[in-house]
Amino acid sequence: MQVLNPATEQPIAELRSAGEAETDRAVEAARAALPGWRAVKPADRARLLRRLAGLVEDHGEELARLETQNVGKPIADSRGEMAMVADVFNYYSGAVERLYGETVPVAAGVDLTFREPLGVVGLIVPWNFPLMLASWKLGPALACANTVVLKPAELTPLTALRLAELALEAGLPQGVLNVVVGPGSVCGERLVRHPEVAKVGFTGSTEVGRRVMAGAAASIKRVTLELGGKSANLVFEDADLERAAAAAPSAVFGNAGQDCCARSRILVQRSVYDRFLGLLVEATEKVRVGDPEDPRTEMGPLISADHRRKVAAFVEREPLYQADVPAGPGFWFPCTLLEADSGDRVAQEEVFGPVVAIIPFSDEADAVRIANDSDYGLSGSVWTRDGSRALRVARAFETGAISVNSNTSVRVTTPFGGFKQSGLGRELGRQALEGYSEVKNVYISTEA
Ligand code: NAD
Repeated sequence: MQVLNPATEQPIAELRSAGEAETDRAVEAARAALPGWRAVKPADRARLLRRLAGLVEDHGEELARLETQNVGKPIADSRGEMAMVADVFNYYSGAVERLYGETVPVAAGVDLTFREPLGVVGLIVPWNFPLMLASWKLGPALACANTVVLKPAELTPLTALRLAELALEAGLPQGVLNVVVGPGSVCGERLVRHPEVAKVGFTGSTEVGRRVMAGAAASIKRVTLELGGKSANLVFEDADLERAAAAAPSAVFGNAGQDCCARSRILVQRSVYDRFLGLLVEATEKVRVGDPEDPRTEMGPLISADHRRKVAAFVEREPLYQADVPAGPGFWFPCTLLEADSGDRVAQEEVFGPVVAIIPFSDEADAVRIANDSDYGLSGSVWTRDGSRALRVARAFETGAISVNSNTSVRVTTPFGGFKQSGLGRELGRQALEGYSEVKNVYISTEA
């Protein structure tokens, strides 16, 4: 397989692709490592995760450069993502010694619960935040004493491979963290079907997520699914419009729009529609697009030529505004503002590129109705100075995470995941631990 830099279209690595046989070997290695990993004292397992976090920090610049070259994302973003990877391992290292069970009141005995590891887990991740999304799964999976086979996206395998080396350097036993690089339809599919894999943690498109869930049904595998999104950014007439407009571009053009959390629908109250639009165009003009290795760059190219074709097909009407992009090479696509009706394809489907659908609304009920007019429900924002309205809308909006007067949804310590077709289960926070362990109940009779 050739791995390309999407900003230059030049190859940066060549790898031999794994197939079913290599995937099976990785699962076998993970299975063989299970008893030893379970037997590691909690304090030592915590220490190993902290060491891995430390090595990610020490190699942060190297990993960030690798990610930038492979994904085309701005180096400032990659640096932030690598910092989060280290934070994630540190956070879950703290969980290892706090996987508490409960004692439950029962008659004539004592009842205890334990959090048991699931066994071998298969982790399948996409190309938009390759190492960061892998860490969200690896942290809780390893903390709960599972062993793992990680399958990065075929377009972006490089940081996962480097992390596997760092894991060995940190002292994780052989076989605890395995990486298989190959096509999703072969290696991913095999992980989903493999009888020895107890769970699949998947991040990717809703379409493939559906296949994963169906495949997992054969052996009642556990699944966590982090899928697509069509998140809405709601701007009410009483909002700080300047702040809302200044924050909107990064919420949809960040990572060139290739972000499951992208607020790719902006819903604006009609009374302030024209004013907000003016401010939004001004803010969009300021987005610095260009060389991903320049620390000032805010937006790079899309991941591939194929993907650019898909994104371009969403621009079916004359844009309200479209920016310029650098000349080739590179899979560039301009920041694009489109007016839309809620039923339009661009307002319903995930574009996964720098294209935003702008939809006017009349009042709060109309805003909530349009926001919920989606098969997805991953994140979203509401901008208002009215605290009661903020909470009312936050509760009525069918979405897994919503931020008030902010455009960010992701924090290491808080749960993240989707309603509706955006997924199943939660990552990050303590909730992720529930997805990588099984509750066991033990009853002990005290009858004389
Ligand atoms: P994708 O679904 O095409 O691929 C994701 C991963 O699944 C890749 O590793 C791929 O090789 C693998 N895969 C492909 N076919 C498979 C199969 N039949 N069985 C098992 N695995 C298979 O997604 P993508 O294009 O890499 O990523 C973009 C998508 O990911 C978007 O829809 C985006 O919203 C979603 N995403 C979601 C989140 C979230 O947390 N909800 C985060 C990032 C990205």
